Amino acid sequence: MTGRPSGLELVLATANPDKAAEIVAILGAEGVALSPRPAEVPDVEETGGTLLDNARLKARAISEATGRAAVSDDTGLEVDALGGAPGVYTARYAGDDATYADNVVKLLVELHGIPAPDRGARFIAVAFVSFPDRTEIWAEGVVEGTIAPEARGTDGFGYDPVFVPNEGDGRTFAEMGPADKHVFSHRGRAFRALAAMLCDRAD
Ligand code: IMP
Repeated sequence: MTGRPSGLELVLATANPDKAAEIVAILGAEGVALSPRPAEVPDVEETGGTLLDNARLKARAISEATGRAAVSDDTGLEVDALGGAPGVYTARYAGDDATYADNVVKLLVELHGIPAPDRGARFIAVAFVSFPDRTEIWAEGVVEGTIAPEARGTDGFGYDPVFVPNEGDGRTFAEMGPADKHVFSHRGRAFRALAAMLCDRAD
């Protein structure tokens, strides 16, 4: 924690309540204030070809709708044995209306029989701020890990029950509380780096 407030209040651009809760916790610890995503703004279609494109689309749409600085997150899971998939399609891996559980089941089925040393994967998060004058800043966070052979734990969301970070003690993200997860996580890293950039701008 820097304890240095950025002096800025950002509007959250994410419509995903699980990601929003994590961003509030991580940026809050860095002294960055957030206000909720306006309910009346329609969901932004993620038509970009990269995480950065999609993060920019979401932040820009909310900044343009509110006239304020907006912060977004776009995250992908890259699995080595799947040639980097699901990547930009992480949210829709098992189909357009896939639930978190559907995506986890599909991933476990695809990796069935693949031995532990070949189950390498990483989460990549892009944290992005779009300002009303259309200037922008962003930061990327990465966590390397492996995909567990079965789901374990009840904390977190998404693929957390099957992601074991290499820097941890063998628990999946879903077996850690949020504070432990944020120490290593893609999102913790991306948003702490973003907070440092916001502080530099405010200096
Ligand atoms: P998007 O960033 O909204 O495109 O969503 C990417 C998808 O990645 C989400 O729907 C989740 O399934 C998954 N995801 C994002 N962040 C995490 C995380 O911290 N842990 C586990 N799964 C995540």
